[in-house]
Amino acid sequence: MSHDQLQEGYFGEFGGSFVPPELQEVLSYLNEQFKKYKDEPEFNKELHYYLREYVGRENPLTYAQRISEAWGGAKVYLKREDLNHTGAHKINNVVGQILLAKRMGAKRVIAETGAGQHGVATATACAMFNMDCEIYMGAEDIRRQSLNVFRMELLGAKVIPVSKGQGRLKDAVDEALNDLVQNYKNTFYLLGSAVGPHPFPSMVKHFQSIISEESKRQILEKEGRLPDAVIACVGGGSNAIGAFAHYIDEPSVRLIGVEPDQAPTLTEGVPGIIHGFKCLVLLDEEGNPKPTYSIAAGLDYPGIGPEHSHLKVSGRAEYTTVSNEEVLAAFQELSRVEGIIPALESAHAVAFAKKLAPTLTNDQVIIINLSGRGDKDVEQVFDMLK
Ligand SMILES: *Cc1c(COP(=O)(O)O)cnc(C)c1O
Repeated sequence: MSHDQLQEGYFGEFGGSFVPPELQEVLSYLNEQFKKYKDEPEFNKELHYYLREYVGRENPLTYAQRISEAWGGAKVYLKREDLNHTGAHKINNVVGQILLAKRMGAKRVIAETGAGQHGVATATACAMFNMDCEIYMGAEDIRRQSLNVFRMELLGAKVIPVSKGQGRLKDAVDEALNDLVQNYKNTFYLLGSAVGPHPFPSMVKHFQSIISEESKRQILEKEGRLPDAVIACVGGGSNAIGAFAHYIDEPSVRLIGVEPDQAPTLTEGVPGIIHGFKCLVLLDEEGNPKPTYSIAAGLDYPGIGPEHSHLKVSGRAEYTTVSNEEVLAAFQELSRVEGIIPALESAHAVAFAKKLAPTLTNDQVIIINLSGRGDKDVEQVFDMLK
């Protein structure tokens, strides 16, 4: 937790918990339980057991020699979240929260999902931990992501269509929160990114911080020094906050978040409240959250985690955008040059690294957080390139 966090659950002016009293009670209890278990040796022993044996950690910090040579300038390292079970960083948070759910005596896990990736990660872990699993998903998203719906069902989860509102992610979050208020005695809400009311942003950061805990140790082993920059894509902000966490107090390390230029929440957002917390948010002329669009479904969210909002306003981290063309080019280049097909989300970070690397010298080092693998995106890219 950042040292200038004056009040619990706040990052500067951002964060907090703006929810009805019934829900506040449930969240306060969750916060108490999280704080009780997060530093408990038995809990952490079990967490690390599953991170090793099920997720496949620690994953490598790979020196990308050929792309470093192709771009010129800095040495480029890739933190390989793409090698995790289920193919992305999301499983780190899911395993952590599900172990907490078990400790809290929950028999049933609910989650929201947009494109379906968090739903699949949650359904996967619920299968392994033998928990009932129900996933709220917008009716519109269900139509567009039928394969992920099938994956979740295959894993034993029930997918609940939400047709209220626009039938999108936002509406699925609202329904999941309603469910939690009704069923909190046996139900755990497993939230997928570093967003939402307190304690979710702190909890998700805690479980994703394993990324930078490992990468810091690995880069010190390989290079004997800290990186000059860490670059990550930003949707809600969970892979980025995990990749930044252990460097926030190292002022020599530039922290760079990359967004789609069609969902530039941090670059153009203004302070506002969505989903029960305060963050930078993209608003339309009437002051409502603006519909966003990204070719990377995982980055398609009008708000952003409160800590990123604070890191942006305080100047500790930089946020920038890349275009669809740059993302598609990066997707293809990393595939061809390194034999690694990145997720379209992660390709945003690669695209910005391509611009940064040549401005640095050969003895400088950058780490790209490769949040996920691109198998899920191959068909979409095929259609876009055709
Ligand atoms: C979901 C997802 C993201 C975006 O979510 P964050 O919470 O911003 O990390 C990025 N990359 C991949 C591969 C994803 O699946």
